Amino acid sequence: MKRFSLLAFVFLTLTGCAIHPKPTVTVVKLNYPAELQVVTRQEWRWIPMTAAAREHTITKITIHHEGVDFPPDKDPVESIRTLQKWSRAEKNWPDIPYHFMIDLNGKIYETRPINYAGDTNTTYDPTGHALICLMGNYENIEPTENQLNSLVALTAFLAKTYNVPVSEIKGHKDYAETLCPGKNLYKFLQDGTIQKRVADKLRTE
Ligand SMILES: [Zn+2]
Repeated sequence: MKRFSLLAFVFLTLTGCAIHPKPTVTVVKLNYPAELQVVTRQEWRWIPMTAAAREHTITKITIHHEGVDFPPDKDPVESIRTLQKWSRAEKNWPDIPYHFMIDLNGKIYETRPINYAGDTNTTYDPTGHALICLMGNYENIEPTENQLNSLVALTAFLAKTYNVPVSEIKGHKDYAETLCPGKNLYKFLQDGTIQKRVADKLRTE
């Protein structure tokens, strides 16, 4: 009997991979308001996640920048597809580290499904954070009014959907040693401009 248990244990251990099914990846679909023109994952030909990341509940909204210069003639969709490949191949992350990306024209793209916690190269734990990333380097360039409008509209939508207080809208550098989201974008968080615009939007809806 003892020997049987041992054999069974060895057998189950060796065949464990075959016995346990792959983790199921659930993609939460959000109901965006009409004013938010979001490019869906399907539209930019997202390659579905094959490994589930940590599931989480959103309690904060955190703003990032990509931190690399984005040439105006570069195709944002191509850039997102490249970022997805890099995230998986180089970082071994299940997907792009952010939940949303905003391009130089203010167009919003869905990236990692929001029900899965993001990833970071820095020391904070992004569990519970909805991560929005502006393409480009905001140490060098200023965000445009279109980008700020999209950022405010998306943040307000997420704050409403997940009941996130305006005080929990912050920048990456509020949590970790980093320049992210870049001084020219961070100043609008630091002086409360973005939070105030989100609060005004939530009040008038
Ligand atoms: Zn960041």
